[in-house]
Amino acid sequence: MKLSLASVSVDLDPLRCYHHIHGLGPVPEQLTEVVLQRALPRFLEVFDRLGIQATLFVVGADALDGMAGRPLLRESARLGHELGNHSFGHPYELSRLTESEIEHELLACEQILDELRVGTPGPCGFRAPGYELSPQLLAVLSRLGFRYDSSVFPCPPYYLAKLLVLAKLRLSGQRSGSIIGSPWQQLGPSQPYRPALAAPSRRGTAPIVELPVAVTPWLRLPAIGTFLLLSPTLRQVLLHGMTAQPFFNLELHGIDLIDAKQDGIPAELVARQPDLQVPLWQKQAALVEVLRFLRDHAQVVPLAVAAQRLGQLLA
Ligand SMILES: [Zn+2]
Repeated sequence: MKLSLASVSVDLDPLRCYHHIHGLGPVPEQLTEVVLQRALPRFLEVFDRLGIQATLFVVGADALDGMAGRPLLRESARLGHELGNHSFGHPYELSRLTESEIEHELLACEQILDELRVGTPGPCGFRAPGYELSPQLLAVLSRLGFRYDSSVFPCPPYYLAKLLVLAKLRLSGQRSGSIIGSPWQQLGPSQPYRPALAAPSRRGTAPIVELPVAVTPWLRLPAIGTFLLLSPTLRQVLLHGMTAQPFFNLELHGIDLIDAKQDGIPAELVARQPDLQVPLWQKQAALVEVLRFLRDHAQVVPLAVAAQRLGQLLA
């Protein structure tokens, strides 16, 4: 099957998430909203230039009344981008919470998104912090009427790399805010499927469609922004691999279009995030190249549209 459908999504994780992952202290006051303030307009400019409607996964707590990101998100919705739910407070352990705690996180975010959306109110799409889908999270999503989930990232190489990073942090006496999910999820389907309610990494009959984040066939290399924007050689390998599968669910992060120097990112974070060591102009050019590739090979639609189309095929 050749590539024919693609979606582009951006997880708008605030800088505090990265400080949390790397066990760093609090984010300087002036940088708490830097991702929405500086990176989101850069994404909107590129999407506009290439005529792409994307899905923006929003952390509800970053879009409260009076916050700088709120009008930008409202403008994004007006431009035709989909606003997806990325939980209210971005707890990395979300999938391990009780059903009522999960429901609270999802509904609190959904309420804010509905104030910003144009047209049809939600719930529609969800992505979990930290790429983990559990039976209780799937149960809540199904009960609340979400039409798709895009939390699964079935990527053994990424999983192993994360294990190593967390082990290294622990050895140096620091603790990461991130968690290690189930290894079984790494071996589940890598193209859209209907999950089993009791075991989300297996095929089943849940009312919701799972849209896994992109990995290449066979080796399951991570075809996400963090790696696609890092080096031209890696980009060619990943993009070439992705042409052999029907759906390319490209996941980006807000931080992908942050410039360490221009945006004043703390040196201790830059040292731990290789993508922050690449200058913005280089990442912007790489992103344009990736999006052009998608446009040349596939129809690019928001995840909600992809879920609807693919869901009919999976019924
Ligand atoms: Zn996130």
